[in-house]
Amino acid sequence: MLQHDVEQTAPIRLQDPALEPIAEKVIAGRRIDLDEGRILYDTPDVHGVCRLADLVRRRMHGLAAYYNVNRHVNYSNICALSCSFCAFHRKRNQDGAYEMSVEEVTESAIQAAEAGATELHIVGGLHPKLRFDFYTSMLSAIREAAPRLHLKSFTAVEIVHLQRISQRGRLGFEGMKDTLRDLREAGLGSLPGGGAEVFDDRAHDTAFKGKIRGDQWLDVHRAAHEIGLNSNATMLYGHVEGRPERLVHMDLLRRQQDATLRNWAEAQGIGSAGVPDAVLLTGPEEQYPGERLPMPGQAGLETGYFQTIIPLPFFPDGSGLERLPGPSGLENLRTLAVARLMLDNIPHAKAFWIMQTLGMAQLMLDAGADDLDGTVVWYDITHLDNASTHQETTVGDLRRAATEAGFAPVERDTLYRHVERTGSEWRVAGESGDA
Ligand code: SF4
Repeated sequence: MLQHDVEQTAPIRLQDPALEPIAEKVIAGRRIDLDEGRILYDTPDVHGVCRLADLVRRRMHGLAAYYNVNRHVNYSNICALSCSFCAFHRKRNQDGAYEMSVEEVTESAIQAAEAGATELHIVGGLHPKLRFDFYTSMLSAIREAAPRLHLKSFTAVEIVHLQRISQRGRLGFEGMKDTLRDLREAGLGSLPGGGAEVFDDRAHDTAFKGKIRGDQWLDVHRAAHEIGLNSNATMLYGHVEGRPERLVHMDLLRRQQDATLRNWAEAQGIGSAGVPDAVLLTGPEEQYPGERLPMPGQAGLETGYFQTIIPLPFFPDGSGLERLPGPSGLENLRTLAVARLMLDNIPHAKAFWIMQTLGMAQLMLDAGADDLDGTVVWYDITHLDNASTHQETTVGDLRRAATEAGFAPVERDTLYRHVERTGSEWRVAGESGDA
């Protein structure tokens, strides 16, 4: 019961014969279907699943463990919605409610840029009073004050809210694209992947009622991709959903990515044997004539795309779903590995250390993840009510974590270009810059 890794040097030992046909497909670079996804979830051999995901990860990224130097800004926690799983939001006059001015956000951006950050991650609640020009002014002010910072900003539910309060609100999908163009014009560089939760209407209406459903979330990202912006995709798991709903979530992401990349893949001669129109990036090297996926606007790729899948374990504490236990460590490893194997057309898989812990993220590097996220100065979304829970780490900690796990730490920018750094000075590898 032995399969070989990509370099044919070490065997993958599988304990469950049901995994063997799946391993053959993974090795050959063929797509895994939903039934096979169920086997990956049901098998007792969770470590065998992780080994298969690791094979794919090494094929795509070798031993690179990506991280970035970033800063989070949550401009306000005031929100018109009250999602039961959310411990972040406050009503306007409630204790703990806050909103930052454009000047305050800009000051944070300047500090981040001076400290050497390459990215500002900006998200907040759906503020009932702020006007659309607050958001465009915020982006423009940051871009002027710190022009090299990439602004990864606004989850899909915020984009829907922004479309509503902009002049584009009534114009449907095209209006959404126009809203995104307005934001891009002001400085938006890409969308984070938050707010996807899990694409299942039953789970959504049980735990996330009032928030946008999966089809709207996917529409926002499709609109962003069509205008050339990249984005990430999350999946919040371990609450009221089950494993089948997670697989449906992955399948919907995979289908949308296929549709996004189809024209480019046809022109490049990239496809998955036996699955018409599929774009599969996880196969052996010989299946790829050039880069697995270039930047938007390069090498015939006109659109943006999902660049990273980020499985997020649900944290019950402080939410309206505190009765739930949340997922176990093994379930976290398995879900990451299944996502890496199923999402064969998304280049990167992230172990989001803030929610997984850095120790768990180290293990995840061996189970499909190639990215640890960033230094993350200030993260409020999952941990509240105690200033000591604000989370950040150092470049040294991230690099040590990757090295100790046997991987090579590689600093990247938001779009996964390699970064060369001397202290707070940096440049994208191969480009002229400040370093
Ligand atoms: S999850 Fe987002 S939309 Fe829902 S209450 Fe929290 S901040 Fe508001």
